Amino acid sequence: MKLAVIEGDGIGREVIPAAVEVLGAFGLELEKVPLELGYARWERTGTAMSEEDLDTIKSCDAVLFGAVTTVPDPSYKSVLLTIRKELDLYANVRPVKPLPGVTGVTGRNDFDFIIVRENTEGLYSGIEEIGPDLSWTKRVVTRKGSKRIAEYACQLAKKRSDKLTIVHKSNVLKSDKLFLDVCRQTADAYGVEYNDMLVDSMAYSLMMHPEKYDVVVTTNLFGDILSDMCAALVGSLGLVPSANIGKKYAFFEPVHGSAPDIAGKGVSNPLAAILCVKMLLEWMEKPESRLIDDAIADALKKKVITPDLGGKASTSEVGCAVAKYIRENCIV
Ligand code: NAD
Repeated sequence: MKLAVIEGDGIGREVIPAAVEVLGAFGLELEKVPLELGYARWERTGTAMSEEDLDTIKSCDAVLFGAVTTVPDPSYKSVLLTIRKELDLYANVRPVKPLPGVTGVTGRNDFDFIIVRENTEGLYSGIEEIGPDLSWTKRVVTRKGSKRIAEYACQLAKKRSDKLTIVHKSNVLKSDKLFLDVCRQTADAYGVEYNDMLVDSMAYSLMMHPEKYDVVVTTNLFGDILSDMCAALVGSLGLVPSANIGKKYAFFEPVHGSAPDIAGKGVSNPLAAILCVKMLLEWMEKPESRLIDDAIADALKKKVITPDLGGKASTSEVGCAVAKYIRENCIV
């Protein structure tokens, strides 16, 4: 197993080393391939990611990624979008589950749902024209793209409570009618119970009744926005991991960005990145992934937490505490 490790920019350079320490605590046979991509790389070399980098990534099985700062150049092609397209990472999976004793804006912790976001088309198609008086971006919805994400969501729902919510805006965006129809047909074929929601009512409902949801499937932009919003439900952007899954590759990244406002201070919360390690281990079908929940619960109990959760610990202190617990309790 070969893992590309891309810290990226800003707090990516703090949270990924903490996550790598946690991964190392499991003592697995794993070849790590470090790569530098992103804004700092662009500043130094004029390119954020080269063709050779892409080839290196494709020679690995999976990627652990921090975050990159968007390059301020109109011709910049997003590193993330390029990797997602090149590796055909069509399912963006974002679990929204509160940690023990940590609550977000609503003060509740009685929910546990997963947002499954279509990751290769929609408004992130990259087909656009930018002009001084008219700019447009093509929103692409295909039967093939909708079907494979619907299938992924239904398979996930089958392993959980068999309930699916399809989120769309087909009353205004006619392209979403295809997405909705394909999701409904797929859910029928899988025998999964489903409902559908317009994205605006869904945003409200997720804040008011997050406990009502289990697996939520939606298009690219809606999934992006809803999952950041849901970070407020669990208490911090620093707590939400994500996996980008394809047929051949998988790519794991925290939902948050490079956070230039706190970068370099050692206060960023590494738990989202550490939970990405959990998702990586689950993808590798390693049952010991569960130990990460126990290790995080132990760190929370001992108040080894970063300032976003009201604590005083540094990024690396949280990483060390979680890794220590795993080293002491991991029996492989
Ligand atoms: P951001 O997620 O970086 O930060 C938003 C807010 O959340 C900030 O106040 C930040 O301090 C806080 N925050 C984020 N992660 C945290 C953590 N782990 N611990 C504690 N607090 C945390 O979003 P932004 O400021 O809009 O974006 C900054 C840069 O990151 C931009 O260039 C943006 O394009 C980029 N970005 C990259 C990715 C990615 O690479 N996956 C994702 C989102 C944004």
